[in-house]
Amino acid sequence: MAIELRSNDTPAIITGYNLEKHFQLGDQWVTALAGLQFSIPRGQFVAIMGPSGSGKSTLLYILGGLDRPSAGDVVVAGRPLTRLTGEELAEFRRLTIGFVFQAFHLVPTLSALENVALPGVFAAIPRELREQRAFRLLKALGMADRLEHRPAQLSGGQQQRVAIARALFNDPPIIMADEPTGALDSKTGQTVMRMLRYLCSRQNKTVLVVTHDPVVASYADRIIHLRDGQIIRDEWRRLAGSRRARQTEPQEVNRDVS
Ligand code: ADP
Ligand code: MG
Repeated sequence: MAIELRSNDTPAIITGYNLEKHFQLGDQWVTALAGLQFSIPRGQFVAIMGPSGSGKSTLLYILGGLDRPSAGDVVVAGRPLTRLTGEELAEFRRLTIGFVFQAFHLVPTLSALENVALPGVFAAIPRELREQRAFRLLKALGMADRLEHRPAQLSGGQQQRVAIARALFNDPPIIMADEPTGALDSKTGQTVMRMLRYLCSRQNKTVLVVTHDPVVASYADRIIHLRDGQIIRDEWRRLAGSRRARQTEPQEVNRDVS
């Protein structure tokens, strides 16, 4: 039996109002989200779980401003996303959200350092500055000795660390990850989850992770269970920012490099 906890004193950083998403496939309509209503406090670590096709990725992409809802609204860090132009949405994504994907999505021709520094190219940050920042991030994630490696020369876990460092480049308040451990063995996957947990517990990042793995979800403060585009269960396991949240020292994060 889950312990039900509710925090009312931490302000919401993400709120969904009757979110709907329908896709047209030929003359058929598919409902991916069937009216979701929820609020996520700043600093919470949320796992979004549910069977394949339940709407997890669709929800994450709408909350991250990568897609737009068919109906309803979403307010993230004070911005009503449905009212932003495409350009404003791109700016919102760049400054507010760090994305991590199952397939890493690194640029194969660039080194680890260059991949991490890439968001700084788009932000017109001078090369020296962006490479300094990329180095600091890779070092913090235990990758200081892999700066010049290309993605193909790195293990899956190392590639995902590069992707996490890249997601952190602009110091966004929110990290969103779609099945971040899906391509990793379970031990490496847990290292990645400990890093995300650390970013939440120690740096007060709000973390949203889509997963169908209960072990991955065990790192979260809260599990939102989806089925057929609806929230069927909203399980609060600990309060956002709670001292009781699992805390991980950086040394421990760096220990099992694989
Ligand atoms: P999950 O990530 O939980 O596996 P998705 O959010 O990817 O689920 O998909 C939810 C539902 O919406 C599924 O039925 C899927 O087929 C449908 N869907 C998702 N994206 C599209 C799309 N671009 N076009 C048509 N249908 C889509
Ligand atoms: Mg998905």
